[in-house]
Amino acid sequence: MSTSIPYGRQNITDEDIQTVVEVLKSDYLTQGPQIAAFETAFSSYVGSEYAVALANGTVALHLCALALDVNEGAKVITTPITFAASANCVRYCGGEVVFSDINPETYLLDIEKVRALLKSSPKGTYQGIIPVDFAGRANDLEAFRELADEYGLWIIEDACHAPGGYFVDSMGNQQKCGNGKFADLAIFSFHPVKHIAAGEGGMITTNDKALYEKLLMLRSHGITKDTSQFQNSIELAVGTTHYPLPETEYPLWYMEMQDLGYNYRLTDFQAALGLSQLKRADAGLERRKEIAKIYFDAFHEQTFIKGQSGIIEGHAYHLYVIEVEDRLGLYNFLRSKNIFAQIHYIPCHLMPYYQQLGAKLGDMPASEAYYTRCISLPMYPTLAETEQSFIIDQIFDFHGGR
Ligand SMILES: *Cc1c(COP(=O)(O)O)cnc(C)c1O
Repeated sequence: MSTSIPYGRQNITDEDIQTVVEVLKSDYLTQGPQIAAFETAFSSYVGSEYAVALANGTVALHLCALALDVNEGAKVITTPITFAASANCVRYCGGEVVFSDINPETYLLDIEKVRALLKSSPKGTYQGIIPVDFAGRANDLEAFRELADEYGLWIIEDACHAPGGYFVDSMGNQQKCGNGKFADLAIFSFHPVKHIAAGEGGMITTNDKALYEKLLMLRSHGITKDTSQFQNSIELAVGTTHYPLPETEYPLWYMEMQDLGYNYRLTDFQAALGLSQLKRADAGLERRKEIAKIYFDAFHEQTFIKGQSGIIEGHAYHLYVIEVEDRLGLYNFLRSKNIFAQIHYIPCHLMPYYQQLGAKLGDMPASEAYYTRCISLPMYPTLAETEQSFIIDQIFDFHGGR
């Protein structure tokens, strides 16, 4: 096979392109009608009450941390098996990241280890938990909520890998990632390797109105144009020194910066692309499940497979991970065949930045053992059946044939 196969790839259709072109010809390039349309459609897709579109997933995490008042001295728990941004958002606000190890079966934050961590410190030591729906597998947020409530913690769900994913709660109901029922805030990314591609882009979902309003302000410089929120007097707003005023209304130009916010907005044409892609999200998810099933069926009885993502209800299959003994050998062998598998993730606590803050090798044995073996196989809706067979054949060839 001559063409190269990446681990993930976006799919841009003619309809996507047409939609973006129409927005480029319209009156709005940013903060126009596409933003609200995308937010409404996305919140209905995940089942949340509110959604806030943002420039990318990283700034979404930053705003979550700000909205939840993370500050110096705040200790927040997350998993080392994630993209660094899940942890970095705590550092942006001066807080301390406390990594807690994964469950080697699920690859997710091990709730029992989090419980032990919380038990071993006085109540009030920790402020929040950031579980990550790694690879697309949904965390049991009902269990995390119960634990968080016991210790007065908030939850930010990093659902970047899991739009459309869900877990089954204790009543047997499907609880979609980002639906706002258990986590205070959830975040998504629209980077090209994610399920929904907008070039760059992010979303926060929540059911909390006060947090929602705070996020809207923080997204745009901390400025509000909502008359009912104004803090200064009408006199000051009008700018007159003549009292009393005949005016009883704030002038139309008036706005207030009430908090230190940012410009973390998404453009209208990116929102249009996201909205157009969202229409195909269910079909894409179905295709990901088919691909996962084919990998699983090919590998599940093979002794060279030490672990794999598996067939899990509600899994959104952003990634399909297998664990093998000679991971470096397999990675290089696949590369020589133009198959560009990827490693998710180098444990975050071993990044030099976090080592400088005190983390070290040996701290997270399950994550570190997982890292020695994990490799993410190509997984995206347009992966052809023949390409997938080729990948599977190469993996068997590397391990001595069928
Ligand atoms: C992609 C990703 C992010 C960051 O999203 P960007 O849009 O790239 O900033 C955060 N967390 C996880 C788990 C991700 O996969």
